[in-house]
This record gives sequence, C-alpha cells and structure tokens, in this order.
Amino acid sequence: MSIALNLDHSTAIRPQTAARPSLIGLSKAQLAETLVANDVVGEKEGRMRSSQLWNWLYVNGVTDFDRMTNVAKPVRQKLADTFILDRPEIVTEQVSVDGTRKWLFRFRDPQNPNFPAVEVETVYIPESDRGTLCVSSQVGCTLTCSFCHTGTQKLVRNLTAGEILGQILMARERLGDFPGGSRPDDGGLVPSGENRAITNIVMMGMGEPLYNFDNVKQALLIASAGDGMSISKRRITLSTSGVVPYIERTGSEIDVMLAISLHAVRDDLRDVLVPINKKWPLKELLEACRNYPGLSNARRITFEYVMLDGINDSDAEAKELVRLLAGIPAKINLIPFNPWPGSNYGTSPSSRIERFADIVNRAGYASPVRTPRGRDIFAACGQLKSESERLSKKDRDALAGV
Ligand code: SAH
Ligand code: SF4
Repeated sequence: MSIALNLDHSTAIRPQTAARPSLIGLSKAQLAETLVANDVVGEKEGRMRSSQLWNWLYVNGVTDFDRMTNVAKPVRQKLADTFILDRPEIVTEQVSVDGTRKWLFRFRDPQNPNFPAVEVETVYIPESDRGTLCVSSQVGCTLTCSFCHTGTQKLVRNLTAGEILGQILMARERLGDFPGGSRPDDGGLVPSGENRAITNIVMMGMGEPLYNFDNVKQALLIASAGDGMSISKRRITLSTSGVVPYIERTGSEIDVMLAISLHAVRDDLRDVLVPINKKWPLKELLEACRNYPGLSNARRITFEYVMLDGINDSDAEAKELVRLLAGIPAKINLIPFNPWPGSNYGTSPSSRIERFADIVNRAGYASPVRTPRGRDIFAACGQLKSESERLSKKDRDALAGV
C-alpha cells in the first residue's frame, strides 16, 4: 500500500500505515496539525512543539530527532517512530576549477515509495559578495526551448516542496552553512563579507517553476520566513519562460524577484527558441510584466537574453529590445550561450556581446553579461540534465501493482 503524504497547504499528514513520511516541506501550522493528527502530542502542546521542530528543521538543519534536546524524550521517540527528516541522497558532487559546485541529488517519490527514484541537479555559485544556490523545481521540463539541455529531458515529475527545500538544506549541510557547521575548503571562494555560504536563491535549475506553482510557492515561503531559513525575498529570484497566468500570482502570493527568459524580440523567432511563446506571445508576456505586483525602480524585473551567434544578437535586435521594454523597470541579463552535446547553436563572439550590451546600456538599462560558471563540470545555465526517465504507463502500472 502506498503512503498518502499530503502536501496540500491546508491539510495535515494523517497517520500512516506504510513508510514514515518526511516532515521537511511543512509550514509551522502544518507541523502543528500533523503532530496532533498523528497523536504525537495533544492540541495544547501542538503549537509549542511545532515551533521547536521548525527551528530544528530549518534553522539548525538537524536530521536526527535525538538531537532535539529541548523536546521531551518520549516525544522525540514518538516523532522518530512516525516521521523521518528526509534529505536527498548525494549521487555526485563536483567542484569546478572556478569553485562552482554541482550536486546530483536523488529523491524517492513520497507518494510511491516503490517507484524508481528521480534525480535532479543543484548548483552553488560562490562570488566575492554572495553565494547563490541554483535550485531545480522539476525533474526534466515539459517545455522544449531549443537552446536548453534540460528541454531535451522529458518531464518525469514535479518536485514536492520538501524536495525543493531538501536541495537547499543538503547544500547548506555540505557547505557547513548551519550553526556550528564547518566549511569545506573552498579555496577562499566562500563569501567573506557574509557569514552564510548561501545568501541568494535562484529558481533557475531544471524545470519551469510556474508549472509547479503550489510546491514552489510553499518552498519559497518557508525558505524566506524570517524566523526560519530567513533568506530575504529580495535575494530570491524565480525565472520563468513566460507562464503568463502565474506571473501575477508569483508577485502577490510569493513576492520574490522575477526573471523572464525573453531571448527574442519578435514572436516568429521566440516561437522557435521558447515555444511557450506560441501560447503566450510577447505582447501578453510584457503586459503581465508591466502589471507585476510591487514593480518599481528599486525592484526591477530581470530579462534574461541568451546570446546566440547570428540568431538573436544583431544591433537591430538590441534596439528593439530597448523599445519593447520601455516603461518597465528592468535589468537585462545577457547570457553567453552555454553549449551542450548535440546543441545546434553557437555562442556570440564577445565583441558582439559587448556591442549589444553597449546599445542596451546607452538606453539606460543595466545589462551585465553573465559570466559562465562551472562550464567544465556542465553546471552553467541551461546545461543541467539528469538521467531520470519518464516511465511508460505500462511500467507505472506494473510498479503500482495495478
Ligand atoms: N525554466 C526556467 C528556469 C530555468 S532556465 C526558465 O526557462 O526561465 C534558467 C535560464 O537559463 C533561462 O533564462 C534559460 O533560458 C537559460 N538557458 C537555458 N539554456 C541555456 C544555455 N544553453 N545557455 C545559456 N542559457 C541558457
Ligand atoms: Fe524548460 Fe527553462 Fe529549459 Fe525552457 S529554458 S526547456 S523552460 S528549463
């Protein structure tokens, strides 16, 4: 029998008959409901214990109930009998010559413990003034942007909120980023001005975050909660290929920084590069951007623009980009194309990228060129992919015993 791990926002986890579910991914209120629903504690104690748990799980990064020293021993025992504090398994950990780290994490499907595990990649990019974790939202992607390696992997499934947070927690553990943790040797690349290794989160790993809105929202609200993991919403950026109906909700319900994968200034070209454009063309996308809640000069939208040699990198396109974005508080992030095995595009020469950046800059837009990081370990933008494959219905039925 499969366990019913319910991650619906309003519902607690009910007592289980099979595998123990993980508590990672639950909000403080859900933790309280879950403890009471599973008879770990009574109604009265629920709130107090959930605050303690919240702190152990998300602030201290504890994975063993026995280390929760302020929780009474019998309660610790009940917790351990009923739940786990699951983290992904590390399949590989690679470190680039530039200090970028890439992990391949493996997760079991909480709904179907007998199903094959899935794998995703997560990347840590240390810079002098910050440390950014690039987090995945899905295993593979349903979209097929023609220049993106992830787009060649069929969607296996959405990640749960716990799995999205699990990437952050595991990266923190590996980077010695919890209280009392010890840092691995980063060759001096761990940010020195900050006392945390991970200061920023970007939802720019595998998958389209707005096609997994509920779980991404739940994870980011937990990651940004002031009394928990406490990563400022100004330091969390969600990147979307342009799922227009969810853009407003991203601002009003999650309230993080928004990045748009623009990549083309004409619908005919964007239809090819970012095929979701056929559903929500440029006009609708830019209208949704203009209406992004909280948009101001202090809180701009980042427009990502991959520089593809001879495809989208002309002077005329730079000028059209400026014209299209008029009136939207924006930053333009030029990304030199990162090649991958089998890709059909070339990277624009640096002189071309500079010229393009110059036109955009002169129009008053900050347009930093994103330095490719971790290319030697295939950790740069658009290079992520895992071997997890979507099962056929027949195989799924066989595994589920149907
Ligand atoms: N699915 C989301 C987030 C993940 S991709 C999105 O598309 O926005 C993160 C960024 O890397 C996107 O802007 C994406 O278009 C870009 N990207 C994809 N493949 C790339 C490649 N090969 N080289 C450079 N950037 C790439
Ligand atoms: Fe998916 Fe983003 Fe890659 Fe497009 S660029 S295929 S939306 S991960």
